[in-house]
Amino acid sequence: MAGPEPLIFEISGRGKSGVKLPEPDVPCQPLEELLPPDALRDELPLLPEVTEPEAVRHFVRLSALNYHVDKGLYPLGSCTMKYNPKVNEALARLPGFESLHPFQPERTVQGALQLMAELGAYLCEIAGLAGVSLQPAAGAHGELTGLMMIRAYHEHRGRPRKYVLVPDSAHGTNPASVTISGYEAVQVRSNEHGRVDLDDLRRKANEETAALMLTNPNTLGIFEVEVEEIRRILDSVGALFYMDGANLNALLGVVRPGDFGVDVLHFNLHKTFSTPHGGGGPGAGPVGVSERLVPFLPKPIVRKAEDGYHFDWHRPQSVGRVLAFWGHFLVMVRAYTYIRMLGPEGLRQVAETAVLNANYLLSRLRGSFDVPYSERPMHEFVLSGDRQKQKGVKTLDMAKRLLDLGFHAPTIYFPLIVHEALMVEPTETESKRTLDEFAEAMLQVAREAEEDPDRLRSAPQSTPVGRLDEARASRELNVRYEWGRAG
Ligand SMILES: *Cc1c(COP(=O)(O)O)cnc(C)c1O
Repeated sequence: MAGPEPLIFEISGRGKSGVKLPEPDVPCQPLEELLPPDALRDELPLLPEVTEPEAVRHFVRLSALNYHVDKGLYPLGSCTMKYNPKVNEALARLPGFESLHPFQPERTVQGALQLMAELGAYLCEIAGLAGVSLQPAAGAHGELTGLMMIRAYHEHRGRPRKYVLVPDSAHGTNPASVTISGYEAVQVRSNEHGRVDLDDLRRKANEETAALMLTNPNTLGIFEVEVEEIRRILDSVGALFYMDGANLNALLGVVRPGDFGVDVLHFNLHKTFSTPHGGGGPGAGPVGVSERLVPFLPKPIVRKAEDGYHFDWHRPQSVGRVLAFWGHFLVMVRAYTYIRMLGPEGLRQVAETAVLNANYLLSRLRGSFDVPYSERPMHEFVLSGDRQKQKGVKTLDMAKRLLDLGFHAPTIYFPLIVHEALMVEPTETESKRTLDEFAEAMLQVAREAEEDPDRLRSAPQSTPVGRLDEARASRELNVRYEWGRAG
């Protein structure tokens, strides 16, 4: 289908250019002398050639076709796509932060090291944990780092183990990280309340269990109230307690996971602590640990000494480095700014508002959609499109219709344990007015499912492109432009 904006290849013309560089006035070696012959191309690549205004307008037009969080609500469950204060961006762009080089000597980057040390201390305080590494590049990387430390801990005690328990409501990265770290994932069932089934946990926990990975609140948005019993079950077999902290905005300033016995927790700075994400980053997934895992943290760690801040490399039991250099520093600047701007009271208000917004929205939608779990949710909730499915309208159709009504669709078909799932997280940053507009759109969709199902099945009608064959697009992905084929 032809979109409203041509490909940049289609506006290309031979010899057009947006830059004009002066001839170099220093001697430079020919490429042939710098690189071995087999590293040189025979022909130049056929890249698009456009003028500066053509390039700028092309990308601005594309950006205006896109939906983004500066344009409207992004009600994606599980991923906290919230609006991020612009002051974070202003500070991340300060030349003193932006232009740092990772090879600079410690004494020239004392401010950056102080920021890292203080951010680490804030994260420890927020989670009730004893130590933190800021290195991991994203949440899933934090999971892997946490599992590496869990392995190091068990091996140090001379008892390497085999399994990691993962509830069936877990985010897909949890079992994936377990597998990549060399453990085997064992699934634990959820009960009818949408919480971990403790009997199933007791059956599956044994002396070969390295840890349980629990998301809390879980991906149904429900708080696992039985964490203390879970801790006892894990203690009885010597297993560690990992908590996936991606949903931390529901808990900030209210609950500290370390206080209920969590040993490892990863933070998603790009979710809870407000860095724009989507499209692949950059993010940051610091990982915090309880006292007994501190020796295994990745190195180096920033430490304060009498004469200033230093990288501490002398950590003989460390799992080593998990990233080149020190972590995604400008994401840390944004998180630090966010925490300092809000302060303890503000952080608590984040959690309270996140929970209030989700519950308000659910109360407006409850009458028109099936609600599979009756428990009061925290920061996100899951609806089922089963009732509409009986009228021949799939959850996918409803999600597409929402695009016509000016909203990004919620997460659909996840978590897997809910039929026709529609998962919504409004986040704490949205006003009642926005929540009401979204509720009206959802209620209209539910009405149309009864009265005008064809309209939903043919949605979206108002977007730049209509319904795409998504399965085919991902199986036969073709992103290579062939010159001369199109007009
Ligand atoms: C987003 C998310 C992850 C993974 O984090 P990434 O930064 O995307 O790697 C893990 N668990 C939960 C519950 C999440 O929402």
